[in-house]
Amino acid sequence: MCHNEQMSLQRGMNFRVRAGKAGYSIFLMSVRKGAPYQDHWHDEAAGGPHAGMLEYEGHDAPKNVALRSDPKKIDQPQFLPSGKPTDNGKFYQAAMAAKAGAVPEVVQVYEKIADGRWCDRGRYLLVDAEIKTVPISTTSKKTRKVFRFFLKPTVTPAARTREEERELSISRQIPTAIKIAVWNRDRGKCVQCGSTDNLHFDHDVPHSKGGSSFTEANVKILCARHNLEKSDKILSLGPLLGPLVVAATASMLRGA
Ligand SMILES: [Zn+2]
Repeated sequence: MCHNEQMSLQRGMNFRVRAGKAGYSIFLMSVRKGAPYQDHWHDEAAGGPHAGMLEYEGHDAPKNVALRSDPKKIDQPQFLPSGKPTDNGKFYQAAMAAKAGAVPEVVQVYEKIADGRWCDRGRYLLVDAEIKTVPISTTSKKTRKVFRFFLKPTVTPAARTREEERELSISRQIPTAIKIAVWNRDRGKCVQCGSTDNLHFDHDVPHSKGGSSFTEANVKILCARHNLEKSDKILSLGPLLGPLVVAATASMLRGA
């Protein structure tokens, strides 16, 4: 097991990990307690321009010992010293282009539910972004700039039928707190056979109009064999994403 990879996979944004027409980007997110960034889902029922969307915070500047600056007290960087955009800058450009009528960037979203374990939240479209000026703390008058990205759920290529897409949209609504509680209760294993590979959140919910109720009691962990749904997959992304995230961070630090 590579601990460095696990650590570098706390959270991350990767612009265009796959090039070409079917290209997409990746956001790794976390709404766990104590998570260093503020990511959250906007309630569908709340209305407004961002109803039902995922709001994702941009990246802080990398820790720079030489500058002795706390990344949480300075602006999130839009450009590298070379003048090229950071990932914040690239995603911001893409969001502004989408607002102006360009095809939105497709983003695959994974959400952290336990160390080294990520839940597949499906595909999203990057439709909006803001650069917000916020106080550096609740007691300070000093401010900093942070990026906020807005993503709209979209059809996942893997979900080919309406039924699959409906299932995915239901799965997307299982609150993270319940997923984490279920993960801990089921000890990260299929409750039927104890397998730790190809895990999914299985839910038994009468889904009525006007919302559904998910509780710990009606969600459980099953392996692929015991759960035929392809939605809400739990993944271990270390080997797949580790090098990408490391490469993205390294290029930021180098100013390449
Ligand atoms: Zn099983």
